[in-house]
Amino acid sequence: MNTRVGIGYDSHRFAAGRPLRIARRDGAHTHGLVGHSDGDVALHALIDALLGATALGDIGQHFPDDDPQWRGVDSARLVKKIVETSSRPGTASARWTSPWSPSGPSSRH
Ligand SMILES: [Zn+2]
Repeated sequence: MNTRVGIGYDSHRFAAGRPLRIARRDGAHTHGLVGHSDGDVALHALIDALLGATALGDIGQHFPDDDPQWRGVDSARLVKKIVETSSRPGTASARWTSPWSPSGPSSRH
């Protein structure tokens, strides 16, 4: 069995008038997190943990903040892309099945 571990960390500054979304939950608040995407720090930290575990770089390499295709994007879409990328044959996690993969979580333990 091959176990890989990654640690993810992310932070964004607060700004007035922006929506607050953390872990895909919208919060009722006067301030939200500033980001090129939706600024969901929980999902960004998850992405960085997945990338760290698979030695595929960091979130900025995959979704640069000067690329207009990621402006305002739902971070769940970014997680999906990273799961797809890290599951390709030849990557460190190719044999890993995530809860987000089309085949669902692995039943083998
Ligand atoms: Zn972030």
